[in-house]
Formats: sequence, C-alpha cells, structure tokens
Amino acid sequence: MKDWAVEKGATHYTHWFQPLTGITAEKHDAFISPVGDGEVVLEFSGKQLIQGEPDASSFPSGGLRATSEARGYTAWDPTVPAFVKDNAVGDVTLFIPTAFYSYTGVALDKKIPVLRSIDAVSKHALRVLKALGNTVSKKVVATLGPEQEYFLVDKELFLKRLDLQLTGRTLFGAPSPKGQELEDQYFGTIKDNVSAFMADLDTEMWKLGIYSKTRHNEVAPAQFENAPVFSMLNTAVDHNQLTMELMQKIALRHNLVCLLHEKPYRGINGSGKHNNWSLGTDDGLNLLEPGDNPHDNMQFLTFLAGVIRAVDRHADMLRGACATAGQDHRLGANEAPPAIISVYLGDMLGEIFEKLGKGEKYVSKGVSFTDVGVDNLPSFPKDNSDRNRTSPFAFTGNKFEFRMVGSAMSCAGPMLILNTAVAESLDDIATRLEKSKDVKAEVAAILKEVYKENSKIVFNGNNYSAEWEKEAAKRGLPNVKNSVDAHKALITSKAEGILVKYGVLTKEELHSRYEIYIETYSKVINIEANTAINMASTMFIPAAIKYTTILANSISKVKSAGGSSKTQETVLKMVSSLLDSASGKLMAAIDARAKAADITEAVKKAESYRDSVVTAYTSLRDDIDALEALVPAELWPVPTYADLLFKL
Ligand code: ADP
Ligand code: MG
Repeated sequence: MKDWAVEKGATHYTHWFQPLTGITAEKHDAFISPVGDGEVVLEFSGKQLIQGEPDASSFPSGGLRATSEARGYTAWDPTVPAFVKDNAVGDVTLFIPTAFYSYTGVALDKKIPVLRSIDAVSKHALRVLKALGNTVSKKVVATLGPEQEYFLVDKELFLKRLDLQLTGRTLFGAPSPKGQELEDQYFGTIKDNVSAFMADLDTEMWKLGIYSKTRHNEVAPAQFENAPVFSMLNTAVDHNQLTMELMQKIALRHNLVCLLHEKPYRGINGSGKHNNWSLGTDDGLNLLEPGDNPHDNMQFLTFLAGVIRAVDRHADMLRGACATAGQDHRLGANEAPPAIISVYLGDMLGEIFEKLGKGEKYVSKGVSFTDVGVDNLPSFPKDNSDRNRTSPFAFTGNKFEFRMVGSAMSCAGPMLILNTAVAESLDDIATRLEKSKDVKAEVAAILKEVYKENSKIVFNGNNYSAEWEKEAAKRGLPNVKNSVDAHKALITSKAEGILVKYGVLTKEELHSRYEIYIETYSKVINIEANTAINMASTMFIPAAIKYTTILANSISKVKSAGGSSKTQETVLKMVSSLLDSASGKLMAAIDARAKAADITEAVKKAESYRDSVVTAYTSLRDDIDALEALVPAELWPVPTYADLLFKL
C-alpha cells in the first residue's frame, strides 16, 4: 500500500484500492477516477470530507451534552485508508474514516483518545530510544494484530431463538450430550460451508485493504478465529471494526449467522479478541524483539521493564477497560483468561528478568534443539518460551498478547489504556536515562527496581488454577469479577491522573465514558431480562404445561384401561414441581426487573441489575433447562444446544 497523506488545502490524494466497478460517487463532494492498474484518484471539493456535521443528538454522550445540543463534527482521519463499500445490490459508497467531536471540541468517539494515546506512547518511546543512543529512528508507532474469535450458527436455527436474536447469546439451553470435551474441533477439518464463508470473508477483507492471514477452528464446537497481519494500531482498530461487520454480513450469504458475543453458550468456551501489541520504529525495529541474546539487549530489556511496570501499576484499569456485561460470563469464569491480570514471560525471559533484577549475572544457555526421535525429521531449534494459553498478558516472542479483550468489543478502549500506561512508564524511564551519565548502569538500576516493585505481576503458571487465585490475592493483585465494579477503576484519581496528564482523555471525557459503560450495562441486562421473561412466559412454561396435560390424559386413560401409569405419574410430578418453581422464579424476575428499573442513580441501578436481576433470570434458567431435559423434543419450542452447536 502506498504511503500518503492529506496536506492542508490539498484537493486530491491518491490511494490504492481494489479495481473498482460502477463507482457513482457524487461529483459535487468527491469522485473517484481509475488511473491505472487498480489505482484510483479520489478528488473532492468543498470541506465536506475533511469536516462533516452529522446530527450527534442520538449518539451516547454520557452527560457531555444536553439533548438539545445536537452538533457533532466528523474530522477526516488521514492515517487510515478511506475505503469503498459495495453492497450486494450494487450500491457503492465511499467511506472516510473520521474522528467525532462535539460543538465544544470534546471527543465523542474512541478514535480521538486512541490517536492521543498513540502520540503519547510514541513520544516517550522515542525519548527512551534516543537516550539509549539511537540516532536513526525518527518515529515510534504502536502496532496491533487482533485475533478475532467468533461462533457460527445455522441461520434457520438462529431465527428460532429469540435470545440469540435479541441478546446475541442463549439465555436458556440444557447442555448438549456432547460438548467440547473431546477437544476435536481445533484440529478437525473445516466443513465446506464454513470454508466457503472463510474464503469469502478473506476476499472481502482484502478488498478493504485488511490483510486477513489466519483462519482456523477454535476450541469450542462451531467456534472459529480470523487474524490479520498486524498494522499500525489506529488502522488495526478500525479494521477490526470492519472485520466484525463483514463477518456478520458475509455469514448471512452462506445461510449462517456470526455470533460475536463473548459467551453465546453456557458451559462452552467463550470468545475473545487477542490483541497482539508492540512498538515499532519508522526504520523497522520492533522494540520488543529480544534478539539472540536478550540478556545483553539493553533496548529490549528497557522496553520490557517499561511494559511490566505499566501493566503492574495499571492492571486495574486494563481490567476495567475490558469490562462489559458479556465479559462477566467469561473473565474469572475458569476459562481464558481469568479476571486477574498477570504477565507471562516464559522460562528463559523469566529467568533473565529474575537474575538481572537481583543484580546477578545471567549465563546464556545457547540455542537448544528438540529431537522428536524420527530419523527422517531434523532436530528443531527450541523457542525461547513455551506458550501459555492461560495468561491474560503473555509475551509471545516479540510482542505482548493481551487476551482479556472481549470478542464483541472495540479494541480501542483497552488499547488506549495500555498505550497510556506504557507512555507513563516510558516517560519515567526516559527522564532517568536522559539525566544519567552512565546509561547502562541506569538501565541495570531500573531493571532492579522494576523487579523489586513490579515482579508480583509476573506469573508463568496456570492462570486458571485455584492456587493462582489465592497466590494473586497474597500478592495484592486485583481480582474484580464483574464489570460494574471493574469499571470503577477508570475513574479513580490514579486513572484520572494519567489519562489527563498524557492528554488522552479530559476528566469530563473520562467520566462521560464511565457513565456510558454503566448505563450500557443496565440496558443490556434489562434487555436480557425482558427476553428471558418473554421466552419463559410465552414458550417454555406453555410447552411444559402442554406436556403435563398430555401426561395427565395418559394417566387417566391408561388407568381406566387397567394399566400402570407409574412412570407417567413420576414424570408428571417432576415436571409439575419444576413448573411451580419456574413460575415462582419468573415472578421474582419480573419483580427484580421492576425494582431495578425504578432506581434513578446510575451505579446503584447497575448494581441492582447485577445483584438481583441477573441472578433472578439465571435461576429461572436453571429450572427451564431442567424442564428441557424432561419435555419431549417435539414439544420444546426452540432448537437445542446440540442443534445450535453441531448442525452447521
Ligand atoms: P497465535 O494464535 O498463535 O497467537 P496468530 O498468527 O493467530 O497467532 O496471531 C498473531 C497475531 O500477532 C497476528 O495478527 C500477527 O500479525 C500479530 N503480530 C505479529 N507481530 C506483531 C507485532 N510486532 N505487533 C503487533 N502484532 C503483531
Ligand atoms: Mg491465533
């Protein structure tokens, strides 16, 4: 892709697109003319593209504006390529990636703070590089490669499940007789219809300039992953949004529906987004590349120490930035990853960090080889570290992989917190190195200090284990298991301090986001409650009642014919008792919902939804799922887990 930039006052720019057909962009604002092999010139007049003014009044503002203050402005973000969307009916539209701000100049979107955070981390990373003696690199950029997990489900089955349609997850469903216990999905063959979807997705992603690279089955049945080649963080965030949109759109073409929810099915792995993050320079250096001798690589060690310290200091904020109602089913629920943030370094780096941290010498063991004991196969060089799939923040060779991000979330929130946390840490380090007369000695001192103060965040073991939860508590690491509480980390004085200091979010902007998160939580739970109540009242309870009538008829008929109705009576008793229990719980859920809806204070309201409403409809679910296991399949009004997970 060509490098390009829009200069102030420019009237056109050139950019590479896929060959375009049937472009009918408005000549008045902009038009695109092909000039050669897949290259086009986009020309525009007026200022509409550089600055637009859509109505911002229906956009969540978190108290930033009164409803009457409707002005919102879009500003062209020239760091991300513009793109053309071509829908199935031949309607072609040019999209300009934009930032969104209010009449008073306040950031309304996620892009502006992300761009500010990139500036902050770049600036201080460059200072560190310079202080370490690099005179060549002119710019540092944050890089991101987001792996996106998702589920696919048959469209016809999906349309029979109101919960999937309205909430993105199943609010009911007894376990399928077969789940993911055989672990046969990951390495299994990809079914033809899924392959066709994946191929189509790749093509459409490539058309938008998103370098889709990896596609594979994931651990759960009907779960998959897509990963692009990494790019500059701002671009990657936008591209991930487009990827999610494409996944949903393209699945429909294949009679499938793409589920991006973090936990579509109870008892089955959820979906995340693994944010592979690093820092790179304009001349091609990866600042987290350990090289062959990491223990001697001052640059690598300095940046590594910077990241470790940032994650330890701001683990609470990183967790808070990954919180949503959907994530509450995933984080801390004994699957990747836990709600406790820790950093995985692996054996070799872990040892280097420990030795240098204690001021001891590290003796390199050289490259070792693995021999698998087959004559025809060579010995393979061993990697620096094994992979730790359970770690929420793992060093994976030359980047960190932040695995706590939810599959349906924007990468923006978690990434802007990470960038800012690292900016602060590198700012401190840069200031020390700039003042120091002996940079090498100063780096050694910094490593010792980080080891002493922050190594509590480093953990190489199994993050899912109960022992780790205990150990983490001893170390004083935060372990916040629900999003309402986790969000609070975003408005502490510590959070305000760094986000304001590094110009990423003003206090006002920060609080508006917090309010939006809290309100969104309540709204999501309210929708789930409405849906659960509706389904239980109009589908499940009536189906069970119908079955009791069938059983009762059978009992009287069989009895009058002189037969034994013992089985029917036993089943009737079980169904009736579950029905009584379920209807009681239904009433309780209706009651809890009304109480929560009446609360006006936002945090108290969200807490009430969390403590009373979620528990009420989850408990109702238990009875309905038990009924599902008793009621004949032909009477059950919705497709079962076995259908949803295995009929693809
Ligand atoms: P795995 O599933 O084994 O972790 P994948 O290949 O699915 O690996 O994904 C790894 C992701 O990390 C890809 O998107 C890749 O482009 C990205 N990546 C590689 N190097 C960097 C880097 N320096 N900065 C950011 N992301 C990177
Ligand atoms: Mg992967």
